[in-house]
Amino acid sequence: MQRRNPYDVIVVGLGPWGASAVWHLARRGMRVAGFDRHTPPHGYGSHGGATRLARQSNSTGPAYHPLTHRTFELWHQLSAEAGQDLLLESGTVFVGKAGSGWFDRTLESLAASEFEHEILDTEPAQARFPSYGIADDETTVFEPHGTVALVVEGLRAMHDQARRHGAELRFDDPLEDYSENADGVEVRTASGTYRADRLVVAVGAWSGQILGLDLPVAVERQVLFNFAIPDGVRLETAAYFAAPPGDDSAPFYGCPEPDGSYKVSLPSRGKEIRPDKLTDQQPTTAEVAAVRRCLRERIPAIDGEPIRATVCMWSEVTDGHWIIGTHSRHDRIVFGAGCMGRGFRYAPVVGEALADLATGTERPDMALFSPQRFQSVTVRGARRQ
Ligand SMILES: Cc1cc2nc3c(=O)[nH]c(=O)nc-3n(C[C@H](O)[C@H](O)[C@H](O)COP(=O)(O)OP(=O)(O)OC[C@H]3O[C@@H](n4cnc5c(N)ncnc54)[C@H](O)[C@@H]3O)c2cc1C
Repeated sequence: MQRRNPYDVIVVGLGPWGASAVWHLARRGMRVAGFDRHTPPHGYGSHGGATRLARQSNSTGPAYHPLTHRTFELWHQLSAEAGQDLLLESGTVFVGKAGSGWFDRTLESLAASEFEHEILDTEPAQARFPSYGIADDETTVFEPHGTVALVVEGLRAMHDQARRHGAELRFDDPLEDYSENADGVEVRTASGTYRADRLVVAVGAWSGQILGLDLPVAVERQVLFNFAIPDGVRLETAAYFAAPPGDDSAPFYGCPEPDGSYKVSLPSRGKEIRPDKLTDQQPTTAEVAAVRRCLRERIPAIDGEPIRATVCMWSEVTDGHWIIGTHSRHDRIVFGAGCMGRGFRYAPVVGEALADLATGTERPDMALFSPQRFQSVTVRGARRQ
């Protein structure tokens, strides 16, 4: 049979989600090409920095449990293909008290799961995790199989394995335009024009702009800080979350990094940023002061001037769930947007879903993430960057 197009699928955006999609498509024997405007990993998107926390628990409910099992399975497959452990199993500690929405939902979700965890009273928790600030009225939860995911190595593994399976990946080659017709899609990038049966768009914070959709998403500026661990300080290796009071905030969190420093972050809310304005890695004085206030309360042994900061952004969807599915105007275009603060650990499973949807495999389990759930997603006049 004569093939209509040189590629089965083109993937635009080779950050964690797009890299995972090209890996899945290529290992299935599809003819796939991928493009990115930069060379990931880089500091201009959502994946900047060395690590991401990859716990088994979540604050988003049992609907995510099958995806969690599957994403860990896929991380292990990718590690085996790459010959390197991409998840460091150090355990995860959560501290909080009833009334914190994030903490309550995490506990409820854990209780409804098979994920191993221990709930500790204050005294044994303080004795076991002496470096972490734990107040007398707080509960501590330890999840032994919580992990830290390696960003640089994980992304490289996806790119390398996709290439090993035949994918053609082009970096520093931005998408300039695309169109759809009865035979497929035509994609114009800085290097030329390419045709495929289908297009996957995984461009993170640029999604609304490139897809020409007013997605219900806020792109928020976030900063990761690294602090030196002073000589003689023994810091527990587990990743750490301290839940804030109230319903709406995300927790202060941290984890050890491969260079021997400790990373922490205090997620910001409402600090919206235009993706093309993320041009430097400089934190503000107020951001440093806010994270150090938390540090003094939660991990006082490492308080000091940060040795490094990484500024990146994540996309917060109004209802708290990713947006994954087919474009409302273009049947041949599938996209993943609205990564939230948990999109890295789920990248293997999100990429698998994008690959399935792009090749006609039904994924009823992805209904929760369908763009069609938003009645109000409107189409913009222009979709160019
Ligand atoms: C501070 C912070 C902390 C986080 N912590 C965690 C965590 O602990 N655990 C977790 O699981 N997740 C975490 N996340 C979320 C996770 O990093 C993201 O979910 C993930 O990076 C999303 O990947 P992506 O591929 O959708 O987007 P990106 O990583 O932004 O990748 C998108 C890619 O698209 C490319 N692109 C854009 N426009 C074009 C164009 N015109 N042409 C070609 N290419 C283009 C970009 O160059 C980029 O490489 C965190 C995010 C942030 C910001």
